[in-house]
Amino acid sequence: MFKALVLNEVEGKTVSAVESLELDALPAEDVLVEVDYSSLNYKDGLAVTGTGKIIRNFPMVPGIDLVGTVVESASDDYSAGDKVVMTGWGVGENYWGGYSQMARMKPEWLVHLPEGMEPRKTMEIGTAGLTAMLCVMALEDGGVLPTSGPVIVTGAAGGVGSVAVSILAGLGYEVAAVTGRPETEAYLRELGATTILTREEMAEKSRPLERQRWAGAVDTVGDAILARVLAEMNYSGVVAACGLAGGFKLPTTVMPFILRNVRLQGVDSVMCPVARRQEAWGRLQSQLPDSALGEISELISLDQVDDYANRIVNGQVRGRVVVDLKK
Ligand code: NAP
Repeated sequence: MFKALVLNEVEGKTVSAVESLELDALPAEDVLVEVDYSSLNYKDGLAVTGTGKIIRNFPMVPGIDLVGTVVESASDDYSAGDKVVMTGWGVGENYWGGYSQMARMKPEWLVHLPEGMEPRKTMEIGTAGLTAMLCVMALEDGGVLPTSGPVIVTGAAGGVGSVAVSILAGLGYEVAAVTGRPETEAYLRELGATTILTREEMAEKSRPLERQRWAGAVDTVGDAILARVLAEMNYSGVVAACGLAGGFKLPTTVMPFILRNVRLQGVDSVMCPVARRQEAWGRLQSQLPDSALGEISELISLDQVDDYANRIVNGQVRGRVVVDLKK
């Protein structure tokens, strides 16, 4: 028997409960994994609370990422004892996910843990941190270097935002952080931000073009804030847009693109090709200081997921939340 958080739909509402399951309750996939840790991402919050209609098939075990040890494998790519990490591919949405002490995974969803990486660190980073690194790589692909000028990170005290601030500051970028929570200022400065901007000032309606301020941007919130960021980009600046915590609209004009050569680069971690994931995990291992993660992350048990899911959809979670499946 093992424990898992199971979502069911009762009278149109999503209901979650920690249940004891037998191995044969798991879906038939080729690799059986004993899960060490999962994590809590914004999408998990939407799934567990039923806010975003993320889950369409019930019962469902949520948890869009996990790290663990292979117990049995019908795939030549993995053997018992291998440490593996999984993020994305619709796991925890369409397929049973990481909020479970045991999980069955398709081999193509898995990545070998980078040499020397601690399982807990992998989930302190999790989907949010992987996405932050993919955003940094998108800025680099667009030619944005630490010498290019300041970069701005929106939703900075959230999971993606916190890791993005840490990575960028660690690489030598001058980082401005946008937050709606003034109480996180000391935390964001600790992570390496040198300028703190309020959500209110950045959400003010912008003109099509504003004063040029940013060489690069990592946007996790969308809507009016993304529109203002675009209007404030330097000539040939790059915006890596990965999130919609503030809304999915984009009330902008073509002006930043056609008059300032600005690039709006979408970033997706869910279907990201394996080679790019491996590169991102390798860089996270070497370029994200452990000290930053100690500051960023908090450890919870499966029983606390429900409470924390409500907190994350209400914008009350700071940094990253790791779910310990061994408890
Ligand atoms: P999170 O921890 O909840 O962080 C989101 C942050 O956005 C909050 O901490 C808050 O930061 C800010 N925020 C919340 N509500 C807002 C509002 N109404 N207006 C403006 N800012 C608001 O979530 P996360 O896991 O980091 O994910 C962030 C976003 O990225 C989500 O939309 C998620 O779906 C998306 N995401 C996308 C991918 C991908 O593959 N594209 C992968 C992971 C995540 P402050 O408190 O600092 O203001």
